[in-house]
Amino acid sequence: MSRVYNFSAGPAVLPEEVLLEAQAEMLDYHGSGMSVMEMSHRGKVFDGIIKEAEKDLRELMNIPDNYKVLFLQGGAWSQFSAIPMNMMKHGKAAYIVTGQWAKKAWQEAGRYGDAVKVASSEDRTFSYIPDCSDLDIPEDADYVYICENNTIYGTKFWELPNTKGHDLVADVSSCFLSEPVDVSKYAVIYGGVQKNIGPAGVVIAIIREDLITDDVLPGTPTMLKWKTQADNDSLFNTPPAYGIYICGKVFKWLKAQGGLAAMKERNERKAKILYDFLDQSRLFKGTVEKKDRSLMNVPFVTGDKELDALFVKEAEKEGLVSLKGHRSVGGMRASIYNAMPEEGVVKLVDFMRRFEEAHS
Ligand SMILES: *Cc1c(COP(=O)(O)O)cnc(C)c1O
Repeated sequence: MSRVYNFSAGPAVLPEEVLLEAQAEMLDYHGSGMSVMEMSHRGKVFDGIIKEAEKDLRELMNIPDNYKVLFLQGGAWSQFSAIPMNMMKHGKAAYIVTGQWAKKAWQEAGRYGDAVKVASSEDRTFSYIPDCSDLDIPEDADYVYICENNTIYGTKFWELPNTKGHDLVADVSSCFLSEPVDVSKYAVIYGGVQKNIGPAGVVIAIIREDLITDDVLPGTPTMLKWKTQADNDSLFNTPPAYGIYICGKVFKWLKAQGGLAAMKERNERKAKILYDFLDQSRLFKGTVEKKDRSLMNVPFVTGDKELDALFVKEAEKEGLVSLKGHRSVGGMRASIYNAMPEEGVVKLVDFMRRFEEAHS
């Protein structure tokens, strides 16, 4: 067996300890005589798994009691529709468009009501976070929407926008559990888990209770109505049971690492190794404004497409894989999520240094 350093943006690297534990429990989960994949989601064993996962997540994120935690399906994409359907009481919302995912969420919301783009960084290929301290947000907007960490472009909101009293909704798919967060500043925090938490197939939505009502847009599908899911503790229909089980293991792993404050420290250290190298490199350069840099997704280029392609190919031979940038940006992107060990980043920088010497 040989494991690589996997810099994929998602589905992405998982902690090896978690994979080994899942392997050990594959055929017989805690004396049940079966795998978690094979058991009823209505049984006592799975009930224990999902309850414990929620409890650990609440502890990790310090989630206040007036927020519900939902384990859902349909990817982050399904929430692009669920959010307007559940929240657009006045038929209007403000969107801050800082990348492809925010843009898609904005476009989707436009199918259900008036989705007003109040800021954007598209003028410079989403390479920065616009100043959101004094935006022109419509009085009657039902919420302000952001994508907090832009997976494709590698930028992050280091300061939340001034919503002028409106509810804040954040897609945190690619920065979920990467640092401590004050949940009370948000109305809704949600994300697909396949970036920084677990296997594809689960979306976690943390929603302030007063937003979970029967007052949804006409035609809202039963499955997309938050109240359906909340009333049934995420067990309205068959949940993505195995995925939730793995997420639960990752929560335990994060607690054992010292929780989110420790993860933040570790993530800052890892990102610094890579950014420090980029800032002095003669060959490679980062593509976004320094003040807005993500700790999770680090895009960089050489400025020469053929050299970029050669870099990706040669890196792979060294066991450094999935470094090709998103098709809309080109170049390279190293996603260095929670489960990427520091050693992986050190190895990457070491290879970049050798590549630079050979090609400049
Ligand atoms: C990957 C990603 C999505 C899309 O997630 P799906 O689960 O494939 O729908 C949405 N938002 C962000 C920030 C992402 O990184």
